[in-house]
Amino acid sequence: MNILLLGSGGREHALAWAIKQNPKCDRLIVAPGNAGIGAVAELASIDPCDSAAVLACVEENAIDFVVVGPEAPLAAGVADALRGAGILTFGPSAAAAKLESSKAFTKEICDACKAPTAGYARFDDLEEAKAYVLAQGAPIVVKADGLAAGKGVIVAMTLEEALTGLEEIFGGAFGAAGAEVVIEEFMEGEEASFFILSDGENVLPVGTAQDHKRVGDGDTGPNTGGMGAYSPAPVLTDAIQAQVLDQIVKPTVAEMARRGTPFQGVLYAGLMIKNGHARLVEYNVRFGDPECQVLMLRLGAQALDLLLACAEGRLPDVQAQWADDHALTVVMAAKGYPGSYEKGTPISGLDALPEDSSNMVFHAGTALQNGQLVATGGRVLNVTARGTTLREAQQKAYAMVDQIDWPEGFCRKDIGWRAL
Ligand code: ATP
Repeated sequence: MNILLLGSGGREHALAWAIKQNPKCDRLIVAPGNAGIGAVAELASIDPCDSAAVLACVEENAIDFVVVGPEAPLAAGVADALRGAGILTFGPSAAAAKLESSKAFTKEICDACKAPTAGYARFDDLEEAKAYVLAQGAPIVVKADGLAAGKGVIVAMTLEEALTGLEEIFGGAFGAAGAEVVIEEFMEGEEASFFILSDGENVLPVGTAQDHKRVGDGDTGPNTGGMGAYSPAPVLTDAIQAQVLDQIVKPTVAEMARRGTPFQGVLYAGLMIKNGHARLVEYNVRFGDPECQVLMLRLGAQALDLLLACAEGRLPDVQAQWADDHALTVVMAAKGYPGSYEKGTPISGLDALPEDSSNMVFHAGTALQNGQLVATGGRVLNVTARGTTLREAQQKAYAMVDQIDWPEGFCRKDIGWRAL
């Protein structure tokens, strides 16, 4: 079959790498992709949020199946446009993508199905929000309702931080995404991510992972899109996974179906775990980046069979076959990230590295300029390895990092520390 994958990050390189290995895949086009993806798939230079351009690409290339990688096209209704045109598509409708694009909506769903999450209140008025924060006290969490690329959340340890955050959000720092705020109880515990496919009715867990959000070793410095990840996440024991499926995920999927907006795609449950019990922090409606890289390295070619079964409403027919091993990815980013950084700096040394089912460098912000690989973004490479232990996966990934020649890049040296 001919497959179109939308997106351009390390997540999409990992998806493309896995999909391409499956004999069902004849042709794989990725739009817009990056330099690494260009080595495994054809690239189409179109905006993945532009439904008309995506539909034209589908028609021109006789595409049979579309996989949507990032959240922006989902929130923009690209999956709706594709399904409306009769194209088999992996990814939720815009109405179901509200589980990520509106934090207030997710809270409403949690209320409706009694899923454990932080207590909260919603406000569209600054003075009322401030009065609520003053009455609750710190620590407290203030969130812009809409998509703000991870920047619209203020985990306030003091009242002052919370009040300043409110001023910023209502002052327009996040545009329409900040027209409403959700103010939440601060939850303590350890965070982990659980990935579940849903075909609208049935669910299939496809792995656990832990991310490293802060830029610096020891979880210091500002937040980023993610500096590394590993899978599985030992904190998500079988018992906790069962609790999350029974109390959070299955009730959510049932509630979305009851409302006439069934969720079809991957539900990424961000969880806070304390004393053997998980509460929902947030949902995302697509694979995590960089978590997808470790999941795909462990899943390999079967990933396509799972995505297809999900899109076709046949999840009960498939099962994820996990090797009993571990994967870890180290993000290499441009010096300065998540602040300002230089673009166009040359990277070499990748050709000498192994590329197989245990070792892969997935590209995020890269391009080829006159045959030279250069960095074009903040997060640039995802150096990913598998091992029989997490320690072995970590050693293999950092051994690859050491062979990459990119003086303008850096990485955290402690990915995996929590589990190790
Ligand atoms: P991202 O895009 O980075 O996943 P987001 O904008 O979708 O973030 P959330 O995941 O809701 O926002 O919050 C970001 C981070 O803030 C969480 O990963 C968690 O560390 C912290 N956080 C959010 N809500 C709470 C809470 N109620 N208690 C404690 N920490 C929280």
